[in-house]
Amino acid sequence: MRQLITADQIETGVTRLAEQIRRDFSGQPLTVLGVLTGSIILMADLIRKLDMPLRVGLVQASSYRGQTTTAGDLKLNPDLLPDLRQRHVLLLDDIFDTGQTLTALVELVQRQQAASVRAAVLLWKEGRSQVTAEPDYHAFRIPDEFVVGYGLDYNDEYRHLPYIAVLEPADLGE
Ligand code: 5GP
Ligand code: MG
Repeated sequence: MRQLITADQIETGVTRLAEQIRRDFSGQPLTVLGVLTGSIILMADLIRKLDMPLRVGLVQASSYRGQTTTAGDLKLNPDLLPDLRQRHVLLLDDIFDTGQTLTALVELVQRQQAASVRAAVLLWKEGRSQVTAEPDYHAFRIPDEFVVGYGLDYNDEYRHLPYIAVLEPADLGE
């Protein structure tokens, strides 16, 4: 495993993200909607740096299945969605890869009659997007490699690492 982004760099990146969001929303009430499970650590760190009236919600999405690093069918589970009518919503995910997840979630949130919806991610992978939309906020651009840590998993492991690391063939058991 090779470290790509250190814990200190993440802290700086998340602080910068929070500053942009605070500036753009300038005190407006906000619902931060975290995408389970990868956004949990970013959620915890980011919301403590925001100072507007704030609600937190969760939605479940998954596209990677079991022991694989390739995307499968996108599954959205809206059971945990709070009432988003007339709310300004900030979707929060760990990574923007093909963009399918956030694009589908933006549509889901719009159908809930939210006042507005934007998307923030920690990581934005280069050269992978299959959609026209782009995240409104991101902390880091990264090369097209499979990463873990700070919420991101491989086979449900490694989410607790305080840094972002690239998995190497030996870690994948290949
Ligand atoms: P997208 O729909 O943009 O292709 O993929 C977004 C989701 O795929 C992310 O929420 C994340 O769960 C997963 N994903 C994409 N790239 C990676 C990666 O490099 N590492 C891990 N662990 N998950 C990824
Ligand atoms: Mg995810």
